[in-house]
Amino acid sequence: MIELGSPQKATWSNIVPRSVAPEQWERYEGHIAEIFESFGMPLDTPGTMDTPRRFLRALFDATAGYDGDAKLMTAFPSESHGMPGSFASQIIEGPIGFVCLCEHHALPFHGTAHIGYIAGDSIIGISKLTRLVRLYARRFTVQERLGEQIADTLVDLVSPAGVAVHLEASHMCTQMRGVEEASQTITTFWRGAYEDPELRREFLHEVRAHKG
Ligand SMILES: [Zn+2]
Repeated sequence: MIELGSPQKATWSNIVPRSVAPEQWERYEGHIAEIFESFGMPLDTPGTMDTPRRFLRALFDATAGYDGDAKLMTAFPSESHGMPGSFASQIIEGPIGFVCLCEHHALPFHGTAHIGYIAGDSIIGISKLTRLVRLYARRFTVQERLGEQIADTLVDLVSPAGVAVHLEASHMCTQMRGVEEASQTITTFWRGAYEDPELRREFLHEVRAHKG
């Protein structure tokens, strides 16, 4: 048996959904209104009078990963397919689009994920992989943690012989201000059988081919 990942770090199976009371929403709206107005937004126009409320709701939705994903957990076992006589071929899915909020600036970073794995006894559909990416992307996070969480949770879900995750993203916190660089940040994450440089090469080659 190959020791993969650190299941105790994965938090996909024991999430308690957030709850925000009406009086909290009201208080937060007041804070946001004060900030937006002080930064130059007139709050007395038809277009902006509800902006603090809309902004908070959008922020809450954009961080819905903290509420978990019941479908990822409950639907998975019935949708896994047995693969008797396992053979070591790579399954590569992507691109899967994602949008996160960086935890340093609370501004978006967005890009695409490619996920590869060497199946053990079960495989997982592209829709579940998309859910898996969103579960961790819709949070305040950093690209490194996003990749680690996707890889570790996939290890938990399908007990594969190996997992590869490739993330490519543009970070608005650098592009909207300061140097305004339009660069892409690329990160890769490997588990298990992907110690093998040949498998890594094959995976990265497929990722490049998918991007066209
Ligand atoms: Zn940032």
